[in-house]
Order: sequence, then C-alpha cells, then structure tokens
Amino acid sequence: MAALREAATMIRAGGIVAVPTETVYGLAADARDSAAVARIYAAKGRPDFNPLIVHVTDLAAAERIAVFDDDARVLSTRFWPGPLTLVLPLREGAGIASLVTAGLATVAVRVPAHRAMRALLAEAAAPLAAPSANASNGISPTRAEHVAASLGAAVPLILDDGATTEGVESTIVAGRTILRPGPVTAEMLAEVLPVMAGATAHVSAPGQLATHYAPAKPLRLDAVSGGAGEWLIGFGAVTGDDTLSAGGDPVEAAARLFDTLHRADASDCTRIAVAPVPEAGIGAAINDRLRRAAHR
Ligand code: AMP
Ligand code: MG
Repeated sequence: MAALREAATMIRAGGIVAVPTETVYGLAADARDSAAVARIYAAKGRPDFNPLIVHVTDLAAAERIAVFDDDARVLSTRFWPGPLTLVLPLREGAGIASLVTAGLATVAVRVPAHRAMRALLAEAAAPLAAPSANASNGISPTRAEHVAASLGAAVPLILDDGATTEGVESTIVAGRTILRPGPVTAEMLAEVLPVMAGATAHVSAPGQLATHYAPAKPLRLDAVSGGAGEWLIGFGAVTGDDTLSAGGDPVEAAARLFDTLHRADASDCTRIAVAPVPEAGIGAAINDRLRRAAHR
C-alpha cells in the first residue's frame, strides 16, 4: 500500500503521521527521536507535557524498552496485542527520547492490535510514541475525518482505515493499580491477577504516580544571567552552561527540555536558573513544566 510506505518514510525522516489503533486515532512519531516527538506536541498545541505511550510490534520489542516483572508478563501474554498499556521501569539504554517519558524512569508501553498501526510499526521499524490525534482539549478521534477536522494542516498524512473499534483510550496499569480505566476492564484484569480486584475499588487518576520528572535542585525562572552556584540553562540570546536551543527554536527546546534538566541536576552547581522562553505555541508547554519545577 503506497500510503503506508509513504507514512513509514515520513516517520523515518522524523515526521508525524496520524494512524488508527483499535482505541482511537493516534499521532505517531519515532519514540527515539526527540525532535519528532516535539513535533507531536507542536501539532496538538498541547499546553503541557504528559508522558506518551510507546507502541511496539511485540513483547520482545517491549522488553527492549521496559523491564518486565512476572505480573507484566502475565498481563502482556493475556492481553497483547490489545488495548492495555503497562507502565514499567524504563530499560537502561532503551534509547527512548526523554520527552516521551517526560523525563521519568518509567515508560508506558503497549502492543496494539490494529492492522494499520501494526503495518506502520513493521514498515517504519521503530517504536512509535502516539497520543490521540486531536488538538489539545479536543475529543479523541475515532475516524480519519475527526483527525482532519481537529488538526487540519498540522498533520501532513492520515492513514484512513475507517472507524476505530474500541473508541476509548487504552486501559493503563502500573503494578497492580489501574491508572486509567479502558477497554480491558477491571474484571478482565482480575481474572488473571486476582489482587487487582482490590485496586479497582478506587480506580485512580494518573495523578497518583509522579507523572513528570522534576529536578531535585531549586530552580529560578526568567534568568538572563546565572548567579553564584547556579547552573544557567540558556535559550536563544541567553547563553549559559547549557541551552534549550541556541537558535531560539521552541520545538528544539521542547525536544531538549528533560535532558537539559537532568544535566542541570547532575551538575556540581546547587541551583538551576532558566532563561525566559516565549509563551507562544509549544512554549506554553515548556513554561508549564518549568513553572511546576520551580514551585515545589
Ligand atoms: P495518551 O497517550 O493521550 O493516551 O495518554 C497517555 C497517558 O499515559 C498519560 O496521560 C499518562 O497518564 C499515562 N502515562 C504514560 N506514561 C506514564 C508513566 N511513565 N507513568 C505514569 N503514567 C504514564
Ligand atoms: Mg488524548
């Protein structure tokens, strides 16, 4: 299929493609390519950085990215391919962009069942980060027409394979806790891991887990120069010990954000200062994350 080959070529070139899964249409990019992942956020106009789900072809591919325990193997054996996402420790050297995990030491991974997503995973030969293919605050798209209406020209290619079958986002499980209810129900989970029945009584919001990385050191915003003992993260004309983007490109800054914060945390300075980043476009998401890191 020509569209599929074109989509895979775009993914390999660092682009973004809308693709159906059995849950909703996703906006996919190579999960190892931070600039490509930043383009997902830019296209969605998302005002914050949530960690994204990484889609892979099979359990072996998932195990190259995440560290599985016995429970995770039981769940993946029973429900993959399918609409179940597992939050697991990120494997060292997995090569997943820090923007995908929002800088966390865990990763959300899933093996989808949909033929179009599976074909794209195979053809692109890449793990694919793919949140729902709608503009920020829009409703999740279950048809190609929804994607086009919501994202328009921001998404260069939509693989149209009709309506999705599940229509709601995947169930997310961390350990034996259901972080997000979905097509794989609490009852279905409890059949294979009995203890999960207890966790379902208070199905929790994702807020229970730390869902973003934040640096351990105090952080000062809108800095144009670094003070004593401060590690300055620059942007554009403000140069520092490191930079989000020397050229002042907000998409590059998003791609580099979490790696830059990790480097600042690991430096021998005791405090972190960050240059101002314009609020426009993806800058809003960068500033949201920086403000939360500053006010802890
Ligand atoms: P979406 O891709 O829009 O279906 O949403 C993915 C959701 O997965 C995020 O909003 C998080 O709640 C959750 N998630 C992804 N990665 C992690 C993680 N490492 N830890 C906890 N929750 C996660
Ligand atoms: Mg969504």
